[in-house]
Amino acid sequence: MNIEHLLENKKVLFSMEVFPPKKTDSIETVYKSIYGLRSLTPDFISVTYGAGGSTTQRSKTVEIASLIKREYGIESVSHLTCIGATKEEIRKRLDDLKANNITNVLALRGDKEPEGACGKDFKHASDLVAFVHEEEPDFHIIGACYPEKHNEADTLEADIRSLRYKIDAGVSHLITQLFFDNEKFYDFMDKAESAGVNVPVEAGIMPLTRKNQIEKMVTLCGATIPAKLQKLVDRFGESDKAMEQAGIEYAISQIDDLLANNVRGIHLYSMNNVEISKKIAEAIKPLLDYIS
Ligand code: FAD
Repeated sequence: MNIEHLLENKKVLFSMEVFPPKKTDSIETVYKSIYGLRSLTPDFISVTYGAGGSTTQRSKTVEIASLIKREYGIESVSHLTCIGATKEEIRKRLDDLKANNITNVLALRGDKEPEGACGKDFKHASDLVAFVHEEEPDFHIIGACYPEKHNEADTLEADIRSLRYKIDAGVSHLITQLFFDNEKFYDFMDKAESAGVNVPVEAGIMPLTRKNQIEKMVTLCGATIPAKLQKLVDRFGESDKAMEQAGIEYAISQIDDLLANNVRGIHLYSMNNVEISKKIAEAIKPLLDYIS
């Protein structure tokens, strides 16, 4: 079932994100992770594209998304960024996706390069969305959104106004940046709905399983660390084992609360970690099954 049909037929989606191998890893390590993740029966798996400025990973995105669909029969989504790209280059990437039977994209602007390079064909993700929608009207286009606002936006309200451009251009589904405070997500949803954002929104959840992840989450993603999570980190952060357990349990409680509050989807940032993803997926499965 493609993602459009899944959204029509399921009350809550459960999806996951994986990333291509880092410089020192082989593609086989990623394939091994995906082999493990497939048994958790996600509705789809998305594959990042050059996230964090990595260019070496880029060529692998389509290859991995293709394997997910071809070998495991799981719908896959290829992330696609436009910063610094020309229309011709994006056209080629769309051809590559079609040749691999992939018709779902997460259309993103991408992170700005340190030197601030920006192509003239695409300034915002909405420009990419409009281009993909025009060129490939049958593609399912997903967009990114930010419950605690994008770090370049002055206010959440301004960021939500920009979000409308993506939807008007052809986005029919959103996935959020990771967050740890559900109240921020509910506040965002209220404001987005009032501003006319009326497409399904999946909540992006990432378990915080190591103390040293905090700085990255706060600086790169702008995520608030609620007092309850901070206490877990203070109490268990020095032990890898204890922090992992505490982070998993926190993520599960976050998801349970989201499910009780009618979220349309949970998008798990798997970090290619099968063991952690498995513990979370198995814990939330009874509630997902009950709702769906
Ligand atoms: P945009 O929607 O263009 O927004 C960027 C900023 O511009 C925001 O502040 C917004 O308010 C503003 N804006 C947007 N449109 C307008 C407008 N028309 N006028 C004025 N202001 C406007 N990065 C990667 O490199 N690879 C990945 O695979 C990847 N995957 C991601 C997955 C998810 C779920 C998320 C949430 C992010 C991901 N990112 C990835 C990071 C993303 O590329 C960055 O957050 C980037 O800085 C913004 O991308 P965007 O698509 O949200 O941009």
